[in-house]
Amino acid sequence: PPTLPPLAGLETAKLDWSTNDLGETAPLSAQFDDVYFSRQDGRTETEHVFLAGNDLSNRFASWPAGRPFVIGETGFGTGLNMLCAWACFDAHAPSAARLHLVSTERYPLSREDIERALSAWPTLASRAERLVRQWPQPVAGVHRLWLDERVTLDLHFGDAAERLQLLEGEVDAWFLDGFAPSKNPDMWRPELFAAMASRSRPGATFATFTCAGIVKRGLAEAGFTWRKVPGVGRKREILTGHIAEPPTLALRGSSPWFTPPPRRAARHVAVIGAGIAGTSMARSLARRGLRVTLLDREAPGAGGSGNRQGVLYIKLAADPNDHSRFYLAGLQHTLRWLQHLDPGHELWSPCGLLQLAMTDREARRQVRFLAAHRLPQALLAGVDADTATQQAGVELDHSGLSYPAAGWVRPGALCQFLASGPGVDFRRGEVTALDVTQAGWKLSLADGEALEVDQVVIANADTANRFAPTHGLTLQVIRGQISQLTLPEGAPALYRVVCGGGYVTPALDGVLTFGATFLPNDAGTAIREDDHAANLAELEKGLPAFTRALREAGVSLDPASCQGRASVRAASPDKSPYAGPVPDVAAWRKDYAVLAKDATLRPAVAGRHHPGLWISAAHGARGMASAPLCAELIASRICDEPLPLEWPLVDHLHPGRRVLRDLARGK
Ligand code: SAM
Repeated sequence: PPTLPPLAGLETAKLDWSTNDLGETAPLSAQFDDVYFSRQDGRTETEHVFLAGNDLSNRFASWPAGRPFVIGETGFGTGLNMLCAWACFDAHAPSAARLHLVSTERYPLSREDIERALSAWPTLASRAERLVRQWPQPVAGVHRLWLDERVTLDLHFGDAAERLQLLEGEVDAWFLDGFAPSKNPDMWRPELFAAMASRSRPGATFATFTCAGIVKRGLAEAGFTWRKVPGVGRKREILTGHIAEPPTLALRGSSPWFTPPPRRAARHVAVIGAGIAGTSMARSLARRGLRVTLLDREAPGAGGSGNRQGVLYIKLAADPNDHSRFYLAGLQHTLRWLQHLDPGHELWSPCGLLQLAMTDREARRQVRFLAAHRLPQALLAGVDADTATQQAGVELDHSGLSYPAAGWVRPGALCQFLASGPGVDFRRGEVTALDVTQAGWKLSLADGEALEVDQVVIANADTANRFAPTHGLTLQVIRGQISQLTLPEGAPALYRVVCGGGYVTPALDGVLTFGATFLPNDAGTAIREDDHAANLAELEKGLPAFTRALREAGVSLDPASCQGRASVRAASPDKSPYAGPVPDVAAWRKDYAVLAKDATLRPAVAGRHHPGLWISAAHGARGMASAPLCAELIASRICDEPLPLEWPLVDHLHPGRRVLRDLARGK
């Protein structure tokens, strides 16, 4: 499989805002010495070349409800093409249709540059504003943006050919943009055309501004037919065409077991469990127009997601691995998702988070981490103890990592908000059994009732493997207790979340929350004074000046004065979530039995799955960073849309991964 790049910041575009003799200003790329759009009339060119070249207004007008129309692009640049496509969609598509935009970009513009460039088109102002507001940090990977209720944009930051090779999704129309082949020969290489072909729907079209030989040959070799059509403005002729029969990727060659299951109809989906995994899942499905029944034996957010305050915290390995890649993507996704859901910050606070290096070993690890990853400072920066002190507003003795945009969430309130959202029908009830029916699944409830649906997503944490089809999935329970202290007026305030051994969040309505304990294989949910004592000891150790100041303000740091809450989280053995289709474990054991003899074999058999059955679980104590992205991943799969993660990361989350590992180890 293609290798994923390190967790790295990307070089941003260097723009030259030069003015020509006619007094027109347009962005010019200093890297490529070419323009982003024509000074004369960029919009007319876009509409002629890319929209008309793909016959978009006609195709949009007849696009049905169901899976979205997908446009793929090779250079996002200022976003002009995609914003024009969105406007065209709004003008022509029926109201139930949806649009999904996928665009790659090797040198993302800065937020300021994109804002300035798009200000040239006043009629696109409100669209540009939505794009700019969500514009991601320049980090390699997939960034999903919600342009409006029916339009999604996935920005795949990195080289176009590489990113398309990592894309799992199929495209209806291509915008083959990018600077002229003479100025940017690297992009227009055979791998790019091959990746476009293998990610095309049958009959997918393309349009491009260039008629260069390298482009015509490349497209033809990959299976596209092309023809020249009249251009507009400076372009006398442009190229359009289509691919009638794209090569099919029937089987994941290197990992046949992870081959996606065949699609099935989904109108009504049941989601079991109303913690953050289930409620975000319900939201993602309802947003796509599906009927969703969300079930929980208790109220939304009653389990591990029910704390008053939780932290948006991830821990990345010094050496890049798929676990870290996923969590970094998850954190960025959750921050954008929360900003979109709750711009007024009623349910969360992006106050910033500090991860202190409490030991020399951890300090060395953080230094190694920063050297290896080079992420944008706005996302993650190293800070010395003085800077950490300044940021936290209380004296700190340790250096650390600062996540300026992370913070805390009210997970319980968030779950309630999502469970009562549009299109989600919350129903209290304990699901005791899941049985296959002719068309889908029957859920039996403890009260004797039953419910029949097309598909099911299991998202009930530590009880997720209690159903017959999920018995084979290993989950470990972990008890966690948080502690709370009511602060008097004038008590010292913390500005940021501070994580050392444990974490402490800025007080909410006069209550300070800190914790949490972490006790594997303990499912007890009673409050324990020993756990309060452990949380207080961690607080004291990480923030001694703060605890001193609290005492001086009259706060008793005595376990008996603490309130708290204990709950159980569930984790997988490798600590990444399970997110994807539920494997038929017995079938895997049979189909892949040869792996016990030779783990390098790749039987040409696609993994068998329980049809229409999905799981989002094992989010451990980091569900706020992982669950919303897993929800989008599963919803995209169910609705036949491009996925919001590179396919090797999709495979990394596959619930069958442990089954396979056990087989290969002869277990
Ligand atoms: N479609 C853009 C718009 O609507 O503003 C204009 C695209 S501009 C002419 C070309 C874009 O391709 C630039 O943003 C450039 O950074 C990007 N690019 C160049 N080489 C690339 C590569 N190898 N992979 C991905 N993007 C690339």
